[in-house]
Amino acid sequence: MPSKPKLGQNLLIDHQAAERIAAALGDVAGRTVVEIGPGRGAITGELAARASHVLAVELDSEFAAALRRRFPAGRVTILEQDVLRFDFAAARARAGMKLRVVGNLPYYITSPLLLKLAASHAALDLAVLMVQQEVAARVTAAPGSRDYGLLTVTVQIHGPVEPLFTLPPSAFSPPPQVRSTVFRWRFAPRFAELGIADPAGFLRFARRAFAHKRKTLANNLRAAGFAPPAVTAALAQAGIHPQSRAEALPLETLARLWNGFQSAPHADNPQLIGAQEGEPS
Ligand code: SAM
Repeated sequence: MPSKPKLGQNLLIDHQAAERIAAALGDVAGRTVVEIGPGRGAITGELAARASHVLAVELDSEFAAALRRRFPAGRVTILEQDVLRFDFAAARARAGMKLRVVGNLPYYITSPLLLKLAASHAALDLAVLMVQQEVAARVTAAPGSRDYGLLTVTVQIHGPVEPLFTLPPSAFSPPPQVRSTVFRWRFAPRFAELGIADPAGFLRFARRAFAHKRKTLANNLRAAGFAPPAVTAALAQAGIHPQSRAEALPLETLARLWNGFQSAPHADNPQLIGAQEGEPS
């Protein structure tokens, strides 16, 4: 069965790496684990030996059929569907506890998938995910670094992330063009701690703040429709230098800025509409 590049089918052939990925989920005895894109089952086999139930979500019907033959009904349930349509909340309700998630992700849907996991955070405990090295760098970046941006903020506001290990192209068949990094994401949203009463509004605001990488934060906010005097006042109140870029701001500072706008609303503040327009870059 030839692999389908369109579905991001770079299959893991490094058995040790599959073991390390499964082990990074921690003790999953008694837990339900959702695997995104099981492929030919390199990681699924490891999970079947550790978890009480594995929900393996695979879009490719040939892979799904082969997996059903390899894992007859029991600990592993193969669901042939698009993971972007998978209902994590319903699966969590059926499992009776928060889910752990694992996957060597199909790279073509990495960003929408990370957004979906963020939006499903209430159903999730932790995730161990393999993504392109440069995406992992963005997800785990610190403020002020080249890689820090909207994707970083969107992921990290839902809980801490840590890079685990990186694999060369030779760990996969066919080998991808790039190196791949596994990272762990513990779901522990920071909205309440940062005083953010309207998480969706904050994420829309962040999208505007990071809209143009070359512009200052103030210019991005003005371009989004905030009145210049309101921007100047809010930056000063949050202790942010007028020439700062959003890339320099820790989550705490960005939240302080947003909360400042919220607590002293100006009549001419824009409606920050369309949380789902595009994806974080
Ligand atoms: N886990 C396997 C491994 O490590 O060898 C396969 C990983 S491969 C990078 C990505 C897998 O995701 C493929 O099996 C592919 O068919 C599957 N896939 C692609 N798009 C998907 C989608 N939208 N929903 C579910 N699975 C998908």
